[in-house]
Amino acid sequence: FQSKLPSTGTTIFTQMSELAAKHNAVNLSQGFPDFDGPSALLEGVNHYIQQGSNQYAPMIGVASLRQAIASKIKRCYDNDINPDTQVTITSGATEALFAAITAFVQTGDEVIVFDPAYDSYDPAITLSGGRAIHIPLLPPSFAMDWQRIADAITPKTRMIVINSPHNPTGQTLSQEDIAQLAELANKHDLLVLSDEVYEHIVFDGAQHQSVLRHKDLSDRSIVVSSFGKTYHTTGWKVGYCIAPAALMGEIRKIHQYLTFSTTTPMQLALADFLNSAPDHDQLLPAFYEGKRDYFNKLMSESRFSFTSTPGTYFQLMDYSAIQDMPDTEFALWLIEHAGVAAIPVSVFYQVPPKDMRLIRFCFAKQNSTLTKAAEQLITL
Ligand code: PMP
Ligand code: GLN
Repeated sequence: FQSKLPSTGTTIFTQMSELAAKHNAVNLSQGFPDFDGPSALLEGVNHYIQQGSNQYAPMIGVASLRQAIASKIKRCYDNDINPDTQVTITSGATEALFAAITAFVQTGDEVIVFDPAYDSYDPAITLSGGRAIHIPLLPPSFAMDWQRIADAITPKTRMIVINSPHNPTGQTLSQEDIAQLAELANKHDLLVLSDEVYEHIVFDGAQHQSVLRHKDLSDRSIVVSSFGKTYHTTGWKVGYCIAPAALMGEIRKIHQYLTFSTTTPMQLALADFLNSAPDHDQLLPAFYEGKRDYFNKLMSESRFSFTSTPGTYFQLMDYSAIQDMPDTEFALWLIEHAGVAAIPVSVFYQVPPKDMRLIRFCFAKQNSTLTKAAEQLITL
């Protein structure tokens, strides 16, 4: 047989988490909390399992959860979403991204993706016969170069994939970025796939610039989010996408044959929790900002250099004062010499900048875990 993804291996997240377990290292690599979500939410799942809500959910997602999402979108982004035609619950953001790309990318289409970018966009584009055109975001600011983006657009460009707050850099789009995006997307009639899984993890008083705040843009956008990030439940794999009804109709055609529907008791419990604790997402920035600052204060004693991340639960750090080896090698060295697992940043690039010496730490951890990691890292 011929591989459809010949240059794709096992993801770095799987590799590093396995290595961390094998070496008994503190795992700050794959992004997931080492603490549980709110107990009322966990109890809700138990309740629905015990009361027999264990069969297929509706294909598009349970009604109460779609309604709760529409209310959240109204509250957070002042946008009126129809829960029946514009919201679909998916098995994580990963499924939503795959379904959206599969629905709209045709053979020969070009899709603008940034470099670095989360690892699931490219394979989905390739499998649809499309071509990912990577536009570099350069350190240290990783800012969008709108002229460069405009220059990359051709008659074949169908879609642009944005991700704010951005994994792995933590950067967030500004209002000005969104205005530039709207102008380009309108001018060239592009679809926007907006990965907003870290929408509630923005720091220093900043406001998340969802494309849903922007009427023009939301009319041509598919917005993807994940309950895993917001409710500390990455293992549940429940996410959702929002799109105009005509686009959503096409996404649902794919969703119904990818997974058909998403786990029922989790959806029911999430709906109750969204309705009963609408302030959970408002408290999240302070919660994670506390963790960021806790970790970074400890790490200021180390020889890593960094500027505090503006969003996500990831912190990039430069290790050039410690070692002069490529980052993948450094990540292995770090497990052995400090007992800490991290993610090398070059894996998020199609073309990594030469001599980049950056590593990504996940700080979605109990303070005791962060203390243990930092104690080991400051010895280097
Ligand atoms: N997009 C980004 C930017 C992510 O970081 C992640 C999770 N690592 C996902 C999508 C996938 O989210 P989920 O686990 O809900 O599939
Ligand atoms: N999004 C997570 C990260 O960036 C990983 C998810 C996964 O393992 N696929 O670490």
